Amino acid sequence: MIRLFNTLSGQIEPLSPADGSTFRMYACGPTVYDYGHIGNFRTFCHVDVLRRTLLLEGLNVRHVMNITDVDDKIIRNAAQAGLPISQYTQKYERAFFEDLDALTVARPEIIARATEHIPFMVSLIQRLAAQDIAYQTEDGSWYFRISRFPAYGKLSKKDLTGITDGARVDVDEYEKDSARDFALWKAPKPGEHFWQTELGPGRPGWHIECSAMAMEYLGESIDLHAGGEDLMFPHHENEIAQSECATHKPFARHWFHVRFLLVEGRKMSKSEGNFFTLRDLLLKGYKASAIRMLLISVPYRQQLNFTFEGLAAETAAVERLRAFHQRILAAPRAAETNFELLAETEECRIAFRTGLENDLNTAEARAAIFELVRAGNAATDSGTLSQENAAAILDALREFDSVFAVLEDRDAAITKFALDWAEHEGRLDQAAPEVLAQRGLTDDQIQSLVDERTQAKRARNFARADQIRNDLAAKGILLEDSKDGVRWRRK
Ligand code: AMP
Ligand code: ZN
Repeated sequence: MIRLFNTLSGQIEPLSPADGSTFRMYACGPTVYDYGHIGNFRTFCHVDVLRRTLLLEGLNVRHVMNITDVDDKIIRNAAQAGLPISQYTQKYERAFFEDLDALTVARPEIIARATEHIPFMVSLIQRLAAQDIAYQTEDGSWYFRISRFPAYGKLSKKDLTGITDGARVDVDEYEKDSARDFALWKAPKPGEHFWQTELGPGRPGWHIECSAMAMEYLGESIDLHAGGEDLMFPHHENEIAQSECATHKPFARHWFHVRFLLVEGRKMSKSEGNFFTLRDLLLKGYKASAIRMLLISVPYRQQLNFTFEGLAAETAAVERLRAFHQRILAAPRAAETNFELLAETEECRIAFRTGLENDLNTAEARAAIFELVRAGNAATDSGTLSQENAAAILDALREFDSVFAVLEDRDAAITKFALDWAEHEGRLDQAAPEVLAQRGLTDDQIQSLVDERTQAKRARNFARADQIRNDLAAKGILLEDSKDGVRWRRK
């Protein structure tokens, strides 16, 4: 039985499906206006750990994730790029799933794009309008009347006394502590993309999306709702208000919030500019498996400070686990079973499960597996590992890997994929030399680096010029400066 902290009750509670058979969970997905950063992926990785743990416990899971493919930023960026929004978002949606695959995040059962569910959102707003909880303003937008939901604030525990009736805010992410009537439906500004609906022309607000899609696929009361800690207010608070006013039923029984990935003590975020995408790190030579291991090894209820030292340590940890797995597969078998090791293996397996069941304590679960590595290596060193011992260890490793998912080595293929992407996007210069060396450079790529070096020299950026020369030399490409320009040849 898993016990998990519930933001709503403020307590650790047992998790079980309300209908006794299928656990119905909804996790807020990405806004596909750009590449995700590894802070975003910390949240998706921990939701994946939750999902995988539920499956390991033998539950059926129905997991829904939305794709926010229309919002202020998307509309603005698509207009700047001169593209229809669907074409603009397609690229980032694809990239998001490629990144999830690289991080071994399993796909939810249902993935729902906001733009394909507009009628569900319209009918939910109509249900609120019928009770005069949704109201329309002069410009044609629709707002939610917060004063009609006295329980507003119950999730984020904000003291919302003194909220002004009718004070409105029309942006999705408004300042903390300002509880105001929020937009359900936004009338189009001149030239903006809109849908023609019974509510009038416009597009949905961000919050209504999640309520409508969660209820469409999971029913009016769901078992669990997940997201990063920043979504608690206003996004999830607004989801509760809309849903519960429409249905008069509790929306989600359990709220799961993953705390931030930090950089030097501050939230990793696009707006702070202190972020790394998965691709940035792959091009620097870090492995996808180590990034996953880093993101999940600190339990979801603690913030995690990102450092390159931490990432290097996780690279070593994954290598150690893989080497151990291979060693146990191949080690000669002793005739007699080592009963002490058999008992230790079972203790580690139980400690692993207990760690996860204890509010998804991934640190405890991980420590249990490394304890198994120590014990298994010692027995193999002393030649006392029997077939029965090996089978028990391999079983425990399988259980571990059904949640951590780092044993299979796909790292080289993922890095190659990142390099192909970088080439396609003209970003190969961001790759570290040792990563680039993993593949041959084409003549065009060499010429463009040579040109970049010439320009760097002209701009008196000798450090960059030398760096390019050295990088190329490391790949066996020699440059000769002459009066007629630079010639290059392969060694
Ligand atoms: P977005 O694409 O911005 O809607 O964010 C996708 C998910 O990432 C949401 O669940 C956010 O709460 C989460 N998130 C954003 N920044 C961070 C961070 N620094 N650490 C952990 N999760 C984050
Ligand atoms: Zn959401």
